[in-house]
Amino acid sequence: MKPDLAALVTAEGDGGTVDVRCPFDGTPIGTLPRSSREDVATGFDRARGAQERWERTPMRDRVAVLTRFRDLVLDHNSELLTWIQRETGKSRASAFEEVTDVALWAGYLAHRGPAALKDRRRSGAIPLLTSTVERRVPYGVVGVITPWNYPFTLPVTDSLPALLAGNAVVLKPDDKTPHTALYALSLLEEAGLPPGLLQIVLGDGPEVGGEVVEHADHMVFTGSTATGRTLATRCADRLIGFSAELGGKNPLLVLEDADVERAAVGAVTACFSNSGQLCISMERIYVHDSQWDAFTHRFLEHVSAMDVRAGLTWEADMGSLISAQQLETVTRHVDDAVAQGARVLAGGRARPDLGPYFYEPTVLTDVQAGMEAHSGETFGPVVSLYRVSSDDEAIAAANDTPYGLNASVWSKSRGPQVARRLQAGSVNINEGYAATWASHDAPMGGVKDSGLGRRHGTEGILGYTESQTIAQQRLVPVSGPPGMTRERWASIMHAGVRVLSRFN
Ligand code: NAD
Repeated sequence: MKPDLAALVTAEGDGGTVDVRCPFDGTPIGTLPRSSREDVATGFDRARGAQERWERTPMRDRVAVLTRFRDLVLDHNSELLTWIQRETGKSRASAFEEVTDVALWAGYLAHRGPAALKDRRRSGAIPLLTSTVERRVPYGVVGVITPWNYPFTLPVTDSLPALLAGNAVVLKPDDKTPHTALYALSLLEEAGLPPGLLQIVLGDGPEVGGEVVEHADHMVFTGSTATGRTLATRCADRLIGFSAELGGKNPLLVLEDADVERAAVGAVTACFSNSGQLCISMERIYVHDSQWDAFTHRFLEHVSAMDVRAGLTWEADMGSLISAQQLETVTRHVDDAVAQGARVLAGGRARPDLGPYFYEPTVLTDVQAGMEAHSGETFGPVVSLYRVSSDDEAIAAANDTPYGLNASVWSKSRGPQVARRLQAGSVNINEGYAATWASHDAPMGGVKDSGLGRRHGTEGILGYTESQTIAQQRLVPVSGPPGMTRERWASIMHAGVRVLSRFN
């Protein structure tokens, strides 16, 4: 039986509706209830009620939910791919990245989460007399706000560790892609997640998303840097924790000793996956002089051969953009660059013959400072090629941006040393973005204007908890035994500190 997704929205029905359309051709997908501000408050109340019991649920039972969810995701691969594609207009291969990613992340959390979250003994104030334990305590109800570009991966990636740690979640996915998040919730409940623990609210960003921030005990946000700043300010006012994965203008470096063919093929995926609407995809390529001709030739050949089309089959290398707004941004960045002297080496046109929001994979050169495509995030299938004559020049240019999310280095031998000099939260060597993202055991996030905090790895689990230290004192108080003079106790302590310092 198909789940009733509309019934899973936290909304009493007087907040209006959200209409969702397929970007491939504009056909309606569904109409869902829109949450009012009061609905958001109700969602938090329900989540809070469910959280109290969930926090006391044994870890093995929480893990069992994640394991069953992982299996259900794999069983429902085909339905998930279709929901993701219909809501985003992306290619099936790009949608498949999301399903695989969620299954692997859920498995990782089930396997490694309990050890990360367990109580830890710490050295006590006075050896043998103080026994100290560090606990990880869930925040309570975590607010999660996510964008439309990875409508399955992002909401689930952020909600699962929060839930495993004992929190409840109120999630606000983007209005363009709510069915995918609701379908994920239906699978979580089928896997045994207690009803009420994950609430989904829908509606306008500033209104409904803003209300989520007003009630949350901790906020996790993925989206643009501008919205991230607004939310950070409000979270600071409320003195609640905030983590954010924001925008990027990611550089790819082709060094003198790169394998050009591998780099050219890899750059196509790195730049045009999900039509470039990927926070960690590449928008700038710096190519060493000695490799310029060969790389440019092969890269353009591969770009020109890309299969761009609508549809739920596997053939497409690239699908549609999500919306008229994205198409407008992409068109503006390319037109502005061309008007100021940039040259189009491939693409450069909208493709209304394929669908209302299609745009060709586009390669620019002679892009200069002052053009929007030079330093602003396009978040579309547009990359600029720059020629450089040394590693130092490539590194300086790559770092010359307020962003610092992801970077990619193509080299047979110098990758690691160049990677360490790049200002980015993740650096992929001989790969665009997948090597770091899919290394779920390692943290992922941005530096500079690209974010605060990390997802993935132990850091990405502990980030959903606060620490609590519990220390139990035996026999003698830390301030000294009753009846002993202060001077005597001080001299014992002094000698003790001297002994301890010998043992470090
Ligand atoms: P956006 O910031 O406009 O919206 C993201 C989410 O925030 C949506 O759910 C939206 O409804 C909500 N929102 C908007 N304004 C809000 C407000 N004032 N208060 C509360 N919620 C609000 O971002 P977008 O343009 O939809 O998404 C694209 C951006 O997201 C790009 O900049 C991209 O780089 C970034 N992104 C980053 C990552 C990452 O992991 N670093 C991943 C995906 C997307």
